[in-house]
Amino acid sequence: MKMLKLLKILVFIFCLFMLFDESAYARAGRGQSYRSSSYRSSSSSGSYRSSYSGYHRSSYGSGYRHSGYTKDGVSDELLGFLFLGILMFVIGYAIYRNYRQKNAIHPQSPEPGIDADARARILQAIQETDPNFSMEIFLERAKEIFLRLQDAWSSGDMTSVRNFLSQGVYNRFKIQLEIMRNMEGAKNVMSDISVESMSPIGIHVNPPYLTLHVAIGAKARDVMLSIDVSDDEAQQILKKASASRFTEVYSFTRKLTAQSDASRDLLKGQCPRCGFVPENFSQVNKCPGCGALYNSGEYDWVLSEITQMEEWKPASADGVSGLAEGMSRQVIEDRASYLFWRWIQCRVRGSALPLMRDATGNMKAKLASPANEYLGEIAVGAVDLKSIESNEEFRADVLIQWSASVEKNNEPIHFDHRMYLVLPKDANVETNFADHGCEQCGAPLPDTDALNCAYCGALLPDTHNDWLLDDIREQSRG
Ligand SMILES: [Zn+2]
Ligand SMILES: [Zn+2]
Repeated sequence: MKMLKLLKILVFIFCLFMLFDESAYARAGRGQSYRSSSYRSSSSSGSYRSSYSGYHRSSYGSGYRHSGYTKDGVSDELLGFLFLGILMFVIGYAIYRNYRQKNAIHPQSPEPGIDADARARILQAIQETDPNFSMEIFLERAKEIFLRLQDAWSSGDMTSVRNFLSQGVYNRFKIQLEIMRNMEGAKNVMSDISVESMSPIGIHVNPPYLTLHVAIGAKARDVMLSIDVSDDEAQQILKKASASRFTEVYSFTRKLTAQSDASRDLLKGQCPRCGFVPENFSQVNKCPGCGALYNSGEYDWVLSEITQMEEWKPASADGVSGLAEGMSRQVIEDRASYLFWRWIQCRVRGSALPLMRDATGNMKAKLASPANEYLGEIAVGAVDLKSIESNEEFRADVLIQWSASVEKNNEPIHFDHRMYLVLPKDANVETNFADHGCEQCGAPLPDTDALNCAYCGALLPDTHNDWLLDDIREQSRG
């Protein structure tokens, strides 16, 4: 009995030690940083064996049960010795960690913020075209969107926040969740999320849109767990996990012509154009009253980007050659991001279905029978519209820099791809930032090749009236 007790203590200390080492994945999207280093060379794509260092240590440690330490024929003395050894190691490690934390500048949470003058200038710039804009109301709503987004991410289902997100951001999270679940066998759960600071840090006017960047400092308990861990067990593990801090920049975009109306709160399901509240608000992104798309950026703010504070830089002011009247660089880049994530989905599923409504015949032929590939820990560093050519149709050239692990437990490696998007000359894209849904009711499109909307029965389009993916190629290096 004495030995059993000793063993229990030993196992407990060991578990405690594992928890000490919990990595800070916190935040929706896992706060993944994109790897710009470790360039892939054609002959050694499998050579980045992970040494489990830094935050790429994808050990879902605390999710696994540490049982079965009992071994027959092990003497009390030996166990006692082992116990003492581990105890000393744990204490030593705790002291070391404490020391390191006190002395390290925490890279996760640089102090964001700008001076009062700059804040006043931001407010003034927005009020020039929208006199009723209130920064307080805006920040309150931004905070609510942040919290709902973390919640949706943690529960593994993004549906509830679709109406506040651009199609690029929404699809990125949705597909990341799918890959985490199906490829990595993992889930990322969070609790005790609290917002500690909200600070507008910049504004970017790029007609016809205006983007407001807000740094959000937050704290949460967060763990990566194996998919088999039950909700109850997850709660137990979360209680023991230490909270971590992080700062992210949320970029909200809307048309310069949009006007604030405090009585119309999209977060309460009120249409920003007509105020109508449908019963099924979270299931559709199109107002049944007036037909407005909630997340197009036309009438209200749409979350168009989330960037880690340490990676954030003000948007580039570089012009893009060939941008025609009414075209927006931001909208095209958001669309390209969406197409990229759908292309990833095609590769991991081994199916051309995810791009069925968004690709040209040329791309569909290339995707005819994609292989089922492993891709994990995917992060996008940049989506950069280079130029637009105008011939019989518009053709956009987009550079995408990203990183992914191409084999389970391998370090992510870097990729550069060129994407080519085409748009007919007479197309009139009305969705802008909105996620394409049923044209009748705005419900999300099915994951199948179904011909009719599952919500209202309307015939679904076989090709979207939007930029279509015509080709994507790995960029050769000089
Ligand atoms: Zn409406
Ligand atoms: Zn429908």
